[in-house]
Amino acid sequence: MNRLFLRFFVLVMLSITAATVVIYFATAYFFGDPLEQIARKQAAAPIFLLEQYVDKAPVDDWLVRLNKVRQVSDFNFDLLPIKGVEEILEPSRRAALWRGEVVIDIPGRAFYRRVDLHGDRYVGSDTDVIHVTGLPIDVGLALKLEGLRYVIVALALLIPIAFWSRNHWRALQALSQAAEDFGSGKLATRIDMAPNAGVYPLAQCLNQMAERIQGLLEAHRNLLHSVSHELRTPIARIEFGLELLREESLEEAQPQARARFIDLQTDIDELKALVNELLDLTKLEQQRSLPQARFMLDDMLHDSVQAVAPILALREVEIQIAERLGELVGDRRLMTRALGNLLANAAKYGRHKVLLTAKRNADGSFEATVEDDGPGIAHEARQRIFEPFYRLDINTTQPVTGFGLGLAIAKKAITLHGGSILVAESALGGAKFVVAIP
Ligand code: ADP
Repeated sequence: MNRLFLRFFVLVMLSITAATVVIYFATAYFFGDPLEQIARKQAAAPIFLLEQYVDKAPVDDWLVRLNKVRQVSDFNFDLLPIKGVEEILEPSRRAALWRGEVVIDIPGRAFYRRVDLHGDRYVGSDTDVIHVTGLPIDVGLALKLEGLRYVIVALALLIPIAFWSRNHWRALQALSQAAEDFGSGKLATRIDMAPNAGVYPLAQCLNQMAERIQGLLEAHRNLLHSVSHELRTPIARIEFGLELLREESLEEAQPQARARFIDLQTDIDELKALVNELLDLTKLEQQRSLPQARFMLDDMLHDSVQAVAPILALREVEIQIAERLGELVGDRRLMTRALGNLLANAAKYGRHKVLLTAKRNADGSFEATVEDDGPGIAHEARQRIFEPFYRLDINTTQPVTGFGLGLAIAKKAITLHGGSILVAESALGGAKFVVAIP
């Protein structure tokens, strides 16, 4: 809010400065230089004295009056030869001097005027100029006063605008917070706003949109869950049928038929695994809370290594678990699965090495990393790999299995524990998954 106000303040001040410059040039163009007018006002007394007292004297008394003024006034009245003065004046002022006008010299706090306006004042007076110095000209002060006036006007404008925009700002912050919460998966988030708020119609629209998105996502989840659920029965029936077939006639079957039978069995196992993973994911997505059980983090990490031991056995595995990792409250089985999925991926996509580290950070949060020396994950795919069924086209020497659900399940399990997971580049050359739980 403060930054916004500051920017607004700077903008208003810049606009006022620009307006002042425009006003200055417009006034100068139409009515003459405003600075000179200020100076002329400040030098009004000696000008008045010269025009009304000295100039009004009879011709032969002019010099006498000038001397009298010289004696009594605080200003210096000098007579200078016109030639010298012409040299220091710019052409427009020179012309003004010849027209008999008072020519103000602001920096010199002085003015010049020809002596002879109407006939000779004294012998040679037509080649003399009267130069009055020591005038009370102070344009700087006048400018400061003018500046102060503009600043006061700007503040008088800004203060009501600041109050007015504060309410809008707060409402916008509420909108952006709600959008952020909704985006982070809190689908029940809605914006509660007074109907007289300026952005109330927008809040209504966002609430309606959130309602629709939540409905669609729930319908989608329910559909996925129901389909997976419904698939289990026919799969179980096929499995049962295959088992019967194996017992009854596989012994006498041709080797070709036996191979086909084994392929069928593998396909059914894969289908079963897919349906089970889908059911797990949809269940996790519907889950709002966790069992609040305490468990030791190092035990959970060792469990996850054990859970995927057969696939890890294919790689060189390094484990660096810090001492006194402490406990976590939540679902041990779920966390074991999440870490197990990451370890299995590291073994699946890594070439030779898998590294598991775990520690407590200075702020007390728990951090575990799983790294490998595989192809890694390109920047543009780092968000998307956590989406269900998203898979990268990786050329590995091994046939890669999986349905693209492992990371989605891991992410859901970790966020249910209030944590986060991100992927980066490992010093080993492959991917590095960082799990942090506050
Ligand atoms: P999958 O069962 O296909 O491994 P995941 O959800 O676990 O599904 O992973 C999704 C995709 O992310 C994988 O198909 C793979 O392309 C990529 N991926 C996951 N882990 C790694 C890794 N350690 N190195 C490189 N790519 C990975």
